[in-house]
Amino acid sequence: MMKAVDVEGRRILVRGTVQGVGFRPWVYRLAVEEGLSGRVRNDARGVTIDVFGRPGPLEAFLRRLGTEAPPAALLREVREETIPAEPLAGFAILPSEGEGSRRVSIPPDLATCAECLHEVQDPADRRHLYPFTNCTHCGPRFTIARDVPYDRPATTMASFPMCPACRREYEDPLDRRFHAQPVACPDCGPRVRLLEPSGGTVVEAAGDPIGTAARALADGRIVAVKGLGGYHLACDATSPAAVRLLRERKKRDEKPFAVMVRTLDDARTVGRLDLAEERLLASVERPIVLVRQRPGSGLAPEVAPGNPLVGLILAYTPLHHLLLEAAGRVLVMTSGNLSEEPMAAGDPEALERLSGIADLFLAHDREIENRCDDSVARVIAGKPTVFRRSRGYVPRAVPLGRPVRRPVLACGAHLKNTFCLAAGDEAWLGPHVGDLDNLEATRAFEEQVERLQRFLGIRPEVIAHDLHPDYASTRYALARPEPVKVGVQHHHAHVMSAVGEHGLEGPVLGLAWDGTGYGTDGTAWGGELLLVHEGAFERLATLRPLRLAGSDEAIRQVWRVALAALDDAFEGAPPLERLRLFDSVPARDVAVVRQMLARGLHSPLAHGAGRYFDALGALGLARGRATYEGQVALEWNLAADEAESGTYPFDLTEEGGLLQADLRPLVRALVEDLVAGLGPHRVSARFHEAMADVAAALVRRAAAQRGPMPVVLTGGCFQNARLAEGVLRRLHRDFDVRLHGEVPPGDGGIALGQALVADAVAGA
Ligand SMILES: [Zn+2]
Ligand SMILES: [Zn+2]
Repeated sequence: MMKAVDVEGRRILVRGTVQGVGFRPWVYRLAVEEGLSGRVRNDARGVTIDVFGRPGPLEAFLRRLGTEAPPAALLREVREETIPAEPLAGFAILPSEGEGSRRVSIPPDLATCAECLHEVQDPADRRHLYPFTNCTHCGPRFTIARDVPYDRPATTMASFPMCPACRREYEDPLDRRFHAQPVACPDCGPRVRLLEPSGGTVVEAAGDPIGTAARALADGRIVAVKGLGGYHLACDATSPAAVRLLRERKKRDEKPFAVMVRTLDDARTVGRLDLAEERLLASVERPIVLVRQRPGSGLAPEVAPGNPLVGLILAYTPLHHLLLEAAGRVLVMTSGNLSEEPMAAGDPEALERLSGIADLFLAHDREIENRCDDSVARVIAGKPTVFRRSRGYVPRAVPLGRPVRRPVLACGAHLKNTFCLAAGDEAWLGPHVGDLDNLEATRAFEEQVERLQRFLGIRPEVIAHDLHPDYASTRYALARPEPVKVGVQHHHAHVMSAVGEHGLEGPVLGLAWDGTGYGTDGTAWGGELLLVHEGAFERLATLRPLRLAGSDEAIRQVWRVALAALDDAFEGAPPLERLRLFDSVPARDVAVVRQMLARGLHSPLAHGAGRYFDALGALGLARGRATYEGQVALEWNLAADEAESGTYPFDLTEEGGLLQADLRPLVRALVEDLVAGLGPHRVSARFHEAMADVAAALVRRAAAQRGPMPVVLTGGCFQNARLAEGVLRRLHRDFDVRLHGEVPPGDGGIALGQALVADAVAGA
């Protein structure tokens, strides 16, 4: 019997992602191992642990709490206080406190953990080669959830009654599968099967469907693979013929395909990785990570035409591991859809929509309830920046610095749409829906909104939307029954999404650079420096606008924007005959567009920084057309020589209190370089340095007038690592500069900002 004087008590409050990730059972096991008594429970903000025992084991417990937590747990804060010892026997997992727990009850999907993978690869294990192996540390979550609370009967696992062996694991607090809702084994769980595209006849169910699919892939065929959040289309990434075939059938222009590898070692053979990139690749969220392709990687050039980056993703389900192992090669793993439609998730839907693309379907009988695309991220300035926030992150909450006054639904932008629900001191971004250009996408958007409202038990009272009257998301917002609607300026929302992500308080200087967003004066903004304080903003600075001849046509026919920039900079007399870009543009087209520009006919003014990347990229690369929006800007970015540090001049002017960066000197100097024969890589680098100079000058001028404030860099242009790092380097010594992290800088992150602005406006 322990003497009472030897026993001490501690209360430990843990904040962060600690619910639904196997944290409480893990705490239980830790306490049992250290011979401590006490209890653990979920509370509204995280987990509370009361623990009792001798000082030595208590110390060991605390140390291990900080260093050995399960892979999916994210400990933001651990606070410890001494409490009176209690004469308890044993350690208990207490039921959740009712209030507050509902909203955190469905965790995101998590990549297969090392222990499960080990079992799948172990011939002696009962889950050897079983493609649906999972535990409390890994496996599907959100994508199989039908309702709350998140319990097996409310998931698509309801139709698989547990066998006695699985049930024992599920009920044993000392087991890794204690309360793992999707627990399954070959005796009781889902099974794979191979289907034919026409009619979905089963080709192979017993036998070795994964092996057969792998052989088809090795033969250059295209296989639709049912993943966690939807179907992928897979093919041999090293075979130019196979990748070309996939591109043709998918009607996919030149957008890069993601490539899946099995291990980090495999990833290192394809990409040049630094430590931060390796960590991001191997994180439980398992996003597609954009990395530099290694020369001699063996990838077919058709995977990412003209692009030095490659989107790499590590296998994140046992099915992926088994398929990659059997195929013995790197696979293209791209969303199962036709060009811009949402990813196919249901079996009948996939068979119908993908039957013209895939030769075979590697399917299974666990239904996907919630469509969820792969997330996409890149390391910028040494830290992960999420470009597309979906599987692995959704529906994890974004903690807010200050609670919202009333529940809000923010409907997001038009392209790369996500929406946002906010209530209390948390906000939830929905899964990536994509461009709301077609009926499929709009329907998916509406379904997802309904579903997340239900899962979170949120009934919004305030509806936020973009100011653009033609966005499908705006029309949806205006048709909602709730009476309180708030239109939020696009760049104001971008800035507030960064403010919200970082929990900043008080006014900030927000540099919001993107392609386009509806301004309060009805013109297209996108080179803005805003002074933002919650629901209010002031436009401090912008870029000298360019005319978009033919409006939307200029977005793909980028030579039109180049011509606009040249005519502006050279007062109508640019040396077109000395610029390679215009070798490929018929003189008649040039004449027509010139007239449009001169008369301002169908040629609205646009302030977007992205337009300068388009225009000067077109000039520098001598490339007049893009096959998708932003392609030329992206290629121009990636062309930049890492060693070149030259720059170009520009002017700052001020009119009616609005500061404007006049980039005509930049355009003239850049043209001079091109005419003198300087290569595009160095010209691109100088252009990037110049744009970073412009950004820094605008911020410094504004700060001199308005006083020092934190600075946020937001908008799609800050997915450009060279630009983001350049601006950061120029400002970080004198300012608190914030880039985006888990909330995308592009339009996929805008809904969070909309929600915060609407809350401030409607609540005032
Ligand atoms: Zn696991
Ligand atoms: Zn079982």
